Amino acid sequence: MTTADSPREARDFIRTIVAEDLASGRIDSVVTRFPPEPNGYLHLGHAKSICLNFGIAREFGGECHLRFDDTNPTKEEQEFVDAITDDIRWLGFDWGEHLYYASDYFEQLYAFAVQLIKDGKAYVDDLDADAVRAYRGTLTEPGKESPHRNRPIEESLDLFERMRAGEFGTGEKVLRARIDMASPNLNMRDPILYRVLKAPHHRTGDKWCIYPMYDFAHGQSDAIEKITHSVCTLEFSDHRPLYDWFIENLGIFPSRQYEFARLEMTYLIQSKRRLRELVEQGYVTGWDDPRMPTLRGMRRRGIPAEAIRLLCERVGVAKTNSMVEIQLLEHCIREVLNRTAPRYMAVLRPLKVVIENYPEDQVEELDAVNNPEDPSAGSRKVPFSRELYIDAADFMENPPKKFFRLGPGREVRLRWGYFITCKDVVKNDAGEVVELRCTYDPETKGGNAPDGRKVKGTIQWVSARQALRAEVRLYDRLFATPEPGIAPEGGTWLDNLNPESLEVVPGAMVEPALAEASPDTTVQFERVGYFVADSRDSRPDALVFNRTVSLRDTWAKIANKA
Ligand code: ATP
Ligand code: MG
Repeated sequence: MTTADSPREARDFIRTIVAEDLASGRIDSVVTRFPPEPNGYLHLGHAKSICLNFGIAREFGGECHLRFDDTNPTKEEQEFVDAITDDIRWLGFDWGEHLYYASDYFEQLYAFAVQLIKDGKAYVDDLDADAVRAYRGTLTEPGKESPHRNRPIEESLDLFERMRAGEFGTGEKVLRARIDMASPNLNMRDPILYRVLKAPHHRTGDKWCIYPMYDFAHGQSDAIEKITHSVCTLEFSDHRPLYDWFIENLGIFPSRQYEFARLEMTYLIQSKRRLRELVEQGYVTGWDDPRMPTLRGMRRRGIPAEAIRLLCERVGVAKTNSMVEIQLLEHCIREVLNRTAPRYMAVLRPLKVVIENYPEDQVEELDAVNNPEDPSAGSRKVPFSRELYIDAADFMENPPKKFFRLGPGREVRLRWGYFITCKDVVKNDAGEVVELRCTYDPETKGGNAPDGRKVKGTIQWVSARQALRAEVRLYDRLFATPEPGIAPEGGTWLDNLNPESLEVVPGAMVEPALAEASPDTTVQFERVGYFVADSRDSRPDALVFNRTVSLRDTWAKIANKA
């Protein structure tokens, strides 16, 4: 038996229970599962559940199953199955040989249903969906028994068989558990176990025309796989008595369910239904749009899997729902990238600089440190020549006192290069600054003056001839309001979209080493932010970079306020 030994893993209430169950010998080893429904792509909320379930299995030397809860044939597709497996691997977890589908258990689930009918604990009902709902009652009123509730066992057995054989149309008959129509828990008022649904299934094809309800498939699947700790979100607390009723009345493996708070985050929408709406109505370019909170979107945005795992760890596992500030996510991204991202120089809005006293055809290779936070990342060469680009924002013709970058007559340090002084400003007919004439001090190579004179500003630059043109996509939050699910008065939640969530900068210039930038490695453009080559659109001869996040961290301010 192993116990959690990583000091980073504080013991939350679920881990505490697992540790106790192992210590007391109630279980020999822990088995958890992550049970996605393949009807959409995984989002940040799912990541929390994945980190928790796979994390527990890893820390306690147990196993975590990946099980597709594919009981609703009308909404599920193979495309989602493939994407989900890919996303979980990317996040850093592995189910080994434990890949399962609820649809693999259809025969067994059918047998469970027959067993309940034979024991007088389930019956076939002829009421249609509306009638079943009307008979169910409300929180304050008990339900009413269906006229078919007491039909003979033999009759129910026969009807259920004929449901399977396809004799009834979609919605014509259902199988219900026979529990208690007066229970204060509505889930216990003879819940539906099976319905007729004449729809082909992505894995079982036309084999079935009756399908188990989620509540009848979920717990039983856990039992079949001998899941010891069935972890789910709080809204399933009310379903637990029903799952326990199935365990008791079927005599199956007693998985125990524990509920934790869903991950909710400001400025994000995490419901699959709404995310689908954004995709289908064209508010974003797809499920992997870099503004989407899907794992695909976040990956394309350049957010490292490690940052998502760190976020889930920091958020922890609670028993009450709460809203997490998006600044915490951004903080985790910066924390990881500050440590890991190689630095490069890039200029978003190029302004030409001519170094008048630098030889016309000379090109020099300057040494640049790849990551000051990580000496093992080494260094690279950056070409320097007579014509450079700097960012237009780093020059002001009439700079205020606190502006320490370039201005007429002023001296600044070029990162990894020399000190330069602005001698003259060239303007076009419209009076706009189009070029700076400067001189450099050859004695300042590497960034220091032998006479000890100081400059206050250091700016990034690229060599005009060697630099590569790139399109840069400056992404911002997709929504402008902290709780985008809440519609403004007289509007819909879609009115909360941020009209400035994407700004395209077509003519950025980046240093030549970025020609080979990989969509899997997020880099820092010094002084600008973190960026990644776009996995769909970037090519060595037509670079496209996505902004992952800016450099400025506002998390401390938020955290101190709290
Ligand atoms: P959605 O509400 O987006 O449709 P879902 O719960 O229907 O999500 P499933 O595929 O059924 O999606 O979810 C798989 C697992 O992920 C479930 O165990 C569910 O509890 C968990 N999960 C879903 N959303 C969150 C969330 N926001 N925080 C934590 N866990 C979540
Ligand atoms: Mg669900």
